Amino acid sequence: MRLLGFTLLAMLGWCVAADAPAQPVAPGPSSDLAAFGSSPDAGQFDRLIEQVERGDLIVSGPQRVREVVRRLDALRPRDDARRELRLRGFRCDYDDLGQPAVGLAFARAAMADAVRLRDVGGQIRFGLCEANYIDGSGQTSQSITVVESALALARKHNDPRLLAQTLAHRGSLRSLLGQQAAALTDFLEAQRVYAGAGLRKEAEAGLGDIASAYRRMGDHAKAMEYLRQSMAFAERQGDPGLQSVALLQIAFLHQDLGRHDEALEVLRRAIDVAAGQGLEYEVAAAHLAMASALVKKGDFSGAETALATARISFERLGDRSNEAMLQLLEGMVLAGRGDDAQALDHYDRATRAFDADPNLRYQVDLYAARALSHEALGDYRAAMDDLKLERTGRRKLYDDARTQQSLLLQYQFDTARRDLENARLQAERRSQQQRLEVVERANRWQLVALTSSGLLMVLLLALFLRQWRNMRQINRLALTDALTGVANRRRIEVAAEQAVTHARSSSEPMAVITFDLDWFKRINDGHGHAGGDQVLVRVARACEAVLRQNDLLGRIGGEEFIVLLPNTSPDAALLVAERLRDSVHRLDLSDIAENLGVTISLGLAMLRTQDDGVHDVIDRADAALYRAKEAGRNRVAVEA
Ligand code: GH3
Ligand code: MG
Ligand code: MG
Repeated sequence: MRLLGFTLLAMLGWCVAADAPAQPVAPGPSSDLAAFGSSPDAGQFDRLIEQVERGDLIVSGPQRVREVVRRLDALRPRDDARRELRLRGFRCDYDDLGQPAVGLAFARAAMADAVRLRDVGGQIRFGLCEANYIDGSGQTSQSITVVESALALARKHNDPRLLAQTLAHRGSLRSLLGQQAAALTDFLEAQRVYAGAGLRKEAEAGLGDIASAYRRMGDHAKAMEYLRQSMAFAERQGDPGLQSVALLQIAFLHQDLGRHDEALEVLRRAIDVAAGQGLEYEVAAAHLAMASALVKKGDFSGAETALATARISFERLGDRSNEAMLQLLEGMVLAGRGDDAQALDHYDRATRAFDADPNLRYQVDLYAARALSHEALGDYRAAMDDLKLERTGRRKLYDDARTQQSLLLQYQFDTARRDLENARLQAERRSQQQRLEVVERANRWQLVALTSSGLLMVLLLALFLRQWRNMRQINRLALTDALTGVANRRRIEVAAEQAVTHARSSSEPMAVITFDLDWFKRINDGHGHAGGDQVLVRVARACEAVLRQNDLLGRIGGEEFIVLLPNTSPDAALLVAERLRDSVHRLDLSDIAENLGVTISLGLAMLRTQDDGVHDVIDRADAALYRAKEAGRNRVAVEA
C-alpha cells in the first residue's frame, strides 16, 4: 500500500512539537520476508511485490522498505528489463527517493524506459510517481494533469489495482484543490473497482481518503465514521503507516471542531506510532498539526518547539508543500509573544507561498492573524482589509462546502439514476429477450400446431376413409344379400320405387320379373343345405351375367328372386326372362354334385299407369310365376 505521500502532507493542519519517546509498534499479521530467497527467481519476485501490495507484508518504515527493495533486487533475474522496471515502480510507491527534484528525475527516466518497453502498467505507475513529486514541489494542479494521463491509460489497461490507485490519486489531488464532491466520486469509484476485483484490503486502505474529503467539505460525522473504519483496519493490519495517517486525520477532525486537547492527545499517539517505524514524514506532519493546536491554546513555546521539529524534517525531506503553513504558524507564535512586526514578515512569506499553492482553508487563518498584527501595530486600514478578506474567504469556504455537498448529492443522484437507468435497460433487455422467446415459442407451437393439425387431418381423413368404407360396407351389407351378393329385399324395394317414379316421369316402360327355383327342396334334401346355398349363389351369378347394366337383380326370399328392368318393353323383357331361364338351365353344377341341375320358373309383368306402386306389378309377376309353376316349371309366364 502506498505510503503517506506529499499529497497527504499538504492537507495537514497546524502543529507544535512534543518530543515523545518512540514506542515499538506491534508487528502486523504479515508473512515474513525470511520466507523469500535471495537468488534470482522471477516467481518469488512477483509474489513478494504482490504480498506487499495486498498488505500481507507490511513495509511501513524506511528501514523495512530498504530491506524489501534489496530482497527484490536479489530476486530479480538479471536480464529481466520488465522486472527491473517493476522494482523501480515499487520504489516509487514505497521508497524515499530524496528531494522532489531527484524523485521527479527518477520517475521521468523510468517513464521513458516504460514507454520504450511498451510497459503500460509501468507507464501508469511512473505517471503517478511523477505526479507525486510534482505535487511535492507545490504544484497540485499540474500534478493532476499528469494523473489524468495515467488514468486514461489505466482505464484501458487491465489491472484493477492500478486503476483504483490512479483514481484514488486523482481524488486526493481534487480534494486538495477543494473539489470534494469530484474527489469523492473518484474515491468511491476506486472502492468499486477494488471490490469488483476482490481487493478488500486495498479498498479498506482507501477509507481514510474518503474521510478526509468529507472532513474538508464540513461533513464531520461522515468523516468520523470513515475514520473509525480506517483506524480499525489499520490496527487489524498492524500497519503503523496506515495507523499514523488515520490518527493524523482524527486529530485534524478534532481541530476543525475546536477540540484542541483531544487533537493533541491523538497527535501524540500518531507521533509514537510513526516515529517507532522511522516514518519521518508522518512525524513531521504530526508536529505541524501539534503546533497549530498549541497556538490556538496559547502555548507559544510548545508551538515553537513543534514547528522547529517539523521544519527540520520537511527540509531534510525536501518538502516545500508545507512552507506556507510553517511561515504562518511561525508568524502566529511571534505575534503571540508580542512581536507583530516580525510576525508580519512571516505572514508575507506565507502569503507568497499561498500565492504559489493556494489553500483558502488556511489562507483565512492567515488573514485573521494578519489583521490582528496590523491592529496591534495601529494600521487599522490594513487590519480592516484583512478582516474583509477573511470574511469573504470564510463565506467562500462555506459556499464551496455547500456547493460540494450539493454536487455530491447530485453525483450520487446521477450515479443512482445511472444505476436505475442501467437496471431499467437491463430489465428492458430481459423483457425483450423474454418477448422474443415467447414469439419463438409461439412459432414453435404454431409449427407444432400446424404439423399436428396436419397430422390430425390425415388421421381424420384416415378415420373418415375407414368409417366411410365401413359405412359403405355396412350400407352394402344392409342392402346386399349376404349369401349371393345381389340386392336384398330392402334395396330392391327402394330401387323399385325409384324405378317406378323414373318410369312414370319419363314415360318409359318398366318390366318386373320374379323367379323361383324349381324343386329346390329336393336339392336341399339331396345335397344338404350348404349345397343348396351353393346352388343359390351360382344361379344368382348366372342371372347377373345375362342382365344389362341398368337391370337390377335382387333376392327377396329363400330361393325367390326379382329382376327390375327399367326402360324395357314387354318383348325385350320376355327375351331377358328367356335368357335368364336358359342360363340357369344350362348351368354346370357338377363341381357341387354330379348330375346336379337346376331350373327356374319366371313370371313377367309390366308396370301399368293405374298401379298404386311397385307392389301391384310384383304381385302380377308373382301370379304369372305361379302359373309358370303350374304349367310345368322351367318356363316363363307373362301376366294375364
Ligand atoms: P317349387 O318348385 O314348387 O318351388 O318346389 P320347391 O321345393 O322349391 O318348393 P318351395 O318353394 O315351397 O320350397 C322352398 C324351399 O327352399 C324351402 C326351404 O327349405 C328352401 N330354402 C329357402 N331358403 C333357403 C336358403 O337360403 N338356402 C337353402 N339351401 N334352402 C332354402
Ligand atoms: Mg319357393
Ligand atoms: Mg321353389
